[in-house]
Amino acid sequence: MRRSLKFAAALAVGAFFVAGALEWRAADAAPSQKLVKPGKLLVAGRTMRCGRTPTLMDHSFWDYGGASDGLIILNPNKLVTLPDPVRLYVYAHECGHQIHGRSEPRADCYAVKRGRKEGWLNRQGLMQICDFLEDHPGDYVHPPGPQRCRTMAKCYEQTKPPRAGPDASG
Ligand SMILES: [Zn+2]
Repeated sequence: MRRSLKFAAALAVGAFFVAGALEWRAADAAPSQKLVKPGKLLVAGRTMRCGRTPTLMDHSFWDYGGASDGLIILNPNKLVTLPDPVRLYVYAHECGHQIHGRSEPRADCYAVKRGRKEGWLNRQGLMQICDFLEDHPGDYVHPPGPQRCRTMAKCYEQTKPPRAGPDASG
């Protein structure tokens, strides 16, 4: 029983759990879990980092990703079904929660701006993210998918691409 995660009342793509509720320790790891240290995480073939926040790879986590204060959770079994830019977006969104707390729009905006700045997100990738979220009706923390898409499009437009162009590094 993964008691440390069972409280998770998280919601579609990246709910931010109650700070302190998730007291995860390496000793608690189930066989389907692995803790990845900061700087060691690969997402879609790219090293992704979120300051000093480690990532718990949990193959049976109920959603694509989640976050608590000081921990990012990813489910590799779910992420593998997504296009690369969407996988990177999920991680960057959870990282956005480390910086901006529970705000979903701010986590989304952070993810898109970071993606454009770092060169892993172009317009096509943004459309893939929008497709991914399109069917999400929204809930008490998440605006409906199409609204999130519009917000992210604005964030994208506010950001300068890397000098070599948004596709330069894949
Ligand atoms: Zn979120």
